[in-house]
Amino acid sequence: MHCPLCEFEDTRDSVHGHLVQAHGEAVETWTVGSGRMRYRIVCPRCGAEHEARVKPRGQDPVFLETFSREIRMVAFDMLINHIVAEHEATVTSEQEAGSER
Ligand SMILES: [Zn+2]
Ligand SMILES: [Zn+2]
Repeated sequence: MHCPLCEFEDTRDSVHGHLVQAHGEAVETWTVGSGRMRYRIVCPRCGAEHEARVKPRGQDPVFLETFSREIRMVAFDMLINHIVAEHEATVTSEQEAGSER
C-alpha cells in the first residue's frame, strides 16, 4: 500500500512503521486533566478525524515520551484501517480491472 502522507510504498506493516518514524507529527497528542492523554489523527484523503483517549500507566515524563510513540503506533494503525476500508478498497478494484501486467 501507499503511505497516505508521501510517496513511500511497501507492505502494510512497513508503511505502518514508516508512518510512526517519518510522520509522527501527524498525530496530535495532548494531556487532559491528571495525566490522561488524547490523540487525534486526521485522514489526509478525506479529512475524517479520529480522536480517542489513552490512559498512561504512569506519570514519569520519560515513560510518557515512550508512551507517545505507542500512541502514534495505535493512531496510525487506526488511520491505515480507515484508509484500507474507505479508500484503498476502491483503488484496488480499479487497478484489478486495469492492466497491472
Ligand atoms: Zn510517508
Ligand atoms: Zn479518509
